[in-house]
Amino acid sequence: MAKKPNLKFPSELRLDLISKDWVVIATGRGKKPEAFKKEKKEEIKISPKICPFCNIETQEMPLLIFSHGKKISYKGKIPENWTTIAIPNKFPAFLPHSKFEKRIEGNLYQTMNAVGFCELVVTKDHDKSLALLSIKDIKEVIDTYQERYLDLMKKKFVNYIAIFHNQGLRAGASQSHPHSQIITTPLIDVDLNRALFNSENYYKKDKKCIYCQMNEWEKKAKERVIFENKDFLAICPFASKAAFEVIISPKSHLPYFEKITEKEKWGLSEVFKVALSKLYTGLGDPSYNFYLHTAPCDGKKYPYYHWHWTILPKTAAWAGFEMGAQMEISTIEPEKAAEYLKKQ
Ligand SMILES: [Zn+2]
Ligand SMILES: [Zn+2]
Repeated sequence: MAKKPNLKFPSELRLDLISKDWVVIATGRGKKPEAFKKEKKEEIKISPKICPFCNIETQEMPLLIFSHGKKISYKGKIPENWTTIAIPNKFPAFLPHSKFEKRIEGNLYQTMNAVGFCELVVTKDHDKSLALLSIKDIKEVIDTYQERYLDLMKKKFVNYIAIFHNQGLRAGASQSHPHSQIITTPLIDVDLNRALFNSENYYKKDKKCIYCQMNEWEKKAKERVIFENKDFLAICPFASKAAFEVIISPKSHLPYFEKITEKEKWGLSEVFKVALSKLYTGLGDPSYNFYLHTAPCDGKKYPYYHWHWTILPKTAAWAGFEMGAQMEISTIEPEKAAEYLKKQ
C-alpha cells in the first residue's frame, strides 16, 4: 500500500488568504505548547489607590454607564455601583474638530489634522482581566462597544471605528486596570484596506465570502477549531501571524459589527469568555491584544466583508527578521496550538 504522504513540511510558509501575506510556521523549533506558558509575572502593578480608573471620578465625564447589566444615566456623579463605563480618553491621539484639513509642505509632504474621537471602555474590577469576568460582564462590554459604535458612526469625519484591547504590559497597556479603546479615524488603515480589497475580489470571483468559505472548511477540518457555539466559531487560523493567534467570527455572513443582535451578543460573549480563559490557563495569563475588523462606516456598502475579532497573545517578542522582512514567524503550528487550547 502506498504510504500516506507527509503533508507537513518541517517548517512552512503559509499564505494568508485575506492579507496575501506569507507567514512562517517555524515548526522545526519543536517547542511544546506548554513551553509558551509564561514563567513569572513581570507586570508592574499600579495600586488601585493611584489607579485612574479605580478613581473614575478623576476622569472625563462618562459617555455611557452600565450597572449589573442595566444602563444607568449620569446625573452629575458616577454611581458607586457602576460595572462598565465608557469615557473619553484623557490623552487622545485624534481630536474632535469641525473641519478636516489637508496641508502640503514643499509640494512633497502631506499632513491632515487627526480628526476623531478616542474613548475608553473600563470594567470595574482592577484585577480582573476579561478572562476572569463572567459571560454577563463580558456581554456588558460588548453592549458598550456596540452602543458607542452606533453613536460615533453618526459623527462627522468618522469613516472607520477601531475597537481594541491591550492586556498586560507586553501588549502595550499603559494601565494595568483592564480597559479597551475605541478610536475613530477619517481614513481606513492599510491592513483593513487590503483585506477589503482582497475580500471584494474573492466575492466577485466566487460569488461567496472568503471568510464564510474558510469557516466552512474549518468546521469540516476541525483541527483548528478551539470552540464553537450556535452563532460563532473560534479558531487558530491556518496562517497564524503569531503563536496561539485566535480568530472569533460569526458563522453567518455579517459585514457590519454594529448590527449585532442581542442573541448574537450573548453568543459572542460566551466565545470570548471561553477563548480568553483557555489562553489564560494554557499560557499562564499572557499579555495579549485583541481587535475588531469590521466594514467601515464611510457610507459605502461592503456586502463582501465579514467582521471578526483577532486575539494575539504576546508569546514571543518580534525579532530582527520579522521587522526587516515584514514576515511574521509563528513558532507553533496552529493545529498544535488549537489542540492544546481545546484541552484547557
Ligand atoms: Zn484600577
Ligand atoms: Zn462571510
